[in-house]
Amino acid sequence: MITITNIKRVGSEKTESVTIEGGLIKGWNIPEEGQVIDGQGGTVAPALIELHAHLREPGQTEKEDLSSGLAAAAAGGYGTVVSMPNTSPVVDDPAIVRSLIEKANSLGFARLRPAAALTKGQKGEELAELTYLKEAGAAMFTDDGRTNENARTLRLGLETAGSLGMVISVHAEDASLRADGVMNEGPVSEALGLPGNPAAAEAARVARDIEIVAGLHAQGVPARLHIQHLSTARALDLVRAAKAQGLPVTCEVCPHHLTLTDEALRSFDAIFKVAPPLRTQADADHLLEGLRDGSVDCLATDHAPHTRAEKERDLLDAPSGIAYIELAFPLMYTRFGETLGLDRILDLMTAAPARVMGWTEPTLDAGAKADLVVLDLTTERPVNPAEFRSKAKFTPWAGETLKGWPVLTVVDGRVAYQR
Ligand SMILES: [Zn+2]
Repeated sequence: MITITNIKRVGSEKTESVTIEGGLIKGWNIPEEGQVIDGQGGTVAPALIELHAHLREPGQTEKEDLSSGLAAAAAGGYGTVVSMPNTSPVVDDPAIVRSLIEKANSLGFARLRPAAALTKGQKGEELAELTYLKEAGAAMFTDDGRTNENARTLRLGLETAGSLGMVISVHAEDASLRADGVMNEGPVSEALGLPGNPAAAEAARVARDIEIVAGLHAQGVPARLHIQHLSTARALDLVRAAKAQGLPVTCEVCPHHLTLTDEALRSFDAIFKVAPPLRTQADADHLLEGLRDGSVDCLATDHAPHTRAEKERDLLDAPSGIAYIELAFPLMYTRFGETLGLDRILDLMTAAPARVMGWTEPTLDAGAKADLVVLDLTTERPVNPAEFRSKAKFTPWAGETLKGWPVLTVVDGRVAYQR
């Protein structure tokens, strides 16, 4: 039994305590029992849910592994993480799904819900054994890292996954339009003389995928499509229109696409190289509006660690990705606490991802699963990558002063992180 004292619920100034027993919330403001933890006057919320993180295990553990990645997630306030299957080997085998879950459970950090590949080897040709992958515990199917060039295979995948009640998430980008682009195509890429990746690469693919869903929907075939890391205004307008027609399409936006633009590439620093690329301020503003009006369903980080040596290569050769699961909430709260509001930001990082997945929405009521985070909304602290649990100890926001840092993360009634 654990009692966390000296905490406030969102929107309340009252200091309370919560008691946890057997992995569940036993009750509020009941006599203290067992271990007592001081919540330091912080604000308590359901633990955050991440639908898009690259934990690099198996096979790329020089970048990250389950232990470092899930510890980093817990330090960032996350209780549940969906890991991407573009590892080595690809997670397209039920035995790998089972072994990942088993290992993660033994670690005691954030809970792992691995995504499995949609196609064998993520080659985009032949569907993986979706039924068996689901039985093994796969949370969703995705070929993220690759771009589902074969529309017919994606359609078949949507039908099959839909019949299993499962979501397919897609990295919506037309590979032939993207070509060898390393940053957003526009005035900045032209000024720098770097190959550009046009907004149309994303929008064209989102349009195609929505049409596939619309066709299935018209036939009464259940299919649920989730579009990952949406980066452009045009693609968001397509999602908005699809939703207005009642189509089962959801999308996520990443904090880096809200807080950084292609102007950052003027540094020629590959730390800013991501896929899809950083876009323009107009795109970022449009995405923020989408978060406000509900046309963007949730936030996800696309936590994508690489080694420092890889990210120190030049822009043409460096891999894409930023690792920042430990500061996603403080970054969102510091930058957008006033415009979006604490309630909306928390919803986008807790209940909203649960709704996308069809999971029970997290609550802090007695009887609910004891997954919670205590946030210090006032103390300002500079981002210090040397303290990261992630193996990628560098970030575009190093040195920036943020508030909203997690001080305690509880997962399944266990302390997964304590500052
Ligand atoms: Zn992706």
